[in-house]
Amino acid sequence: MRQLLQSKGSSDLAAVAPVAEDNAVSALPDVPQKLADIVEEHAAAADFHEVSAPSKLENKVADLQADLEAAKADPHVKEYMQKIRYFEGVFEDDYFISPEEFKLVKQTLARMSRVQRTVGHGNFNLISFDQMVKYGRNFSQVGEFTKVELDYLEQLFFADAHTYGFYGEKVMSGLTQRIPSKELLKVPKTGHFLFKGKSLAFYEKLRKGVGDDIVLTSGIRGTVKQMYLFLSKVAQADGNMSKASRSLAPPGYSYHAVGDFDVGKVGFGYRNFTEDFAETDVYKKLQDLGFLTLRYTDDNKFGVRYEPWHIQVV
Ligand SMILES: [Zn+2]
Repeated sequence: MRQLLQSKGSSDLAAVAPVAEDNAVSALPDVPQKLADIVEEHAAAADFHEVSAPSKLENKVADLQADLEAAKADPHVKEYMQKIRYFEGVFEDDYFISPEEFKLVKQTLARMSRVQRTVGHGNFNLISFDQMVKYGRNFSQVGEFTKVELDYLEQLFFADAHTYGFYGEKVMSGLTQRIPSKELLKVPKTGHFLFKGKSLAFYEKLRKGVGDDIVLTSGIRGTVKQMYLFLSKVAQADGNMSKASRSLAPPGYSYHAVGDFDVGKVGFGYRNFTEDFAETDVYKKLQDLGFLTLRYTDDNKFGVRYEPWHIQVV
């Protein structure tokens, strides 16, 4: 059957999938005629739905699995996988910033931290680059951002993150791009925001399915917040930009700006941001309900560690 299907091309296989998925007789007319003919020829009508169609899918899965194993044997791919799995490790070709740059990062972070204290944790999630600069200018407890600090942040935003091993796409085009606050809702008791449309609806669906045990641990984040989180990682990683970007998308590359969010289990604390979250009843419920659409899966193509808590919305 595997050979037969291969000779028919991959578009036929795609058409077979829904039949096997719902095992419904009514789905048959959607299968292209030529494939339906083959199926009719090779399977008794009675066991077609239960036996042949699922086994075809299994063959396809086995084929893909074999392709995947072959790809993983490639030394470059192997190295890439190692980096994702041991994201906390330091690798030979990791990209480090200079000691001068490290000093500047610490100084800029300290000022951003003062902005956060001034505007509040929740609002800091959303403030724009221009607003941040204004806070520096207008509040003596923050102090004006220096030209060097601002240039550095700008350069960080426009840098190509592929240089240090992050392979996701840029989702924010402008440094000063604002998150339109009218389109957001602050989710009670979390300090985080969600877009009123798809993000909020999806979060509510998760709450309805899982119950009060699930909590929003990070919602919509603007460029400033992402810069702050990313530079904090860089500082923690002793200036290793590659290591930082294995656990967090660099500024401009985070889907938190456009709709994704993180969830956790109430009372699970920082472990919500570790693989331990995948062992919780909350995670298992999400899985059982078919609600899990993860952005950074195991062995993903973005150069990022496995994040079982990060829900893909957009
Ligand atoms: Zn996330």
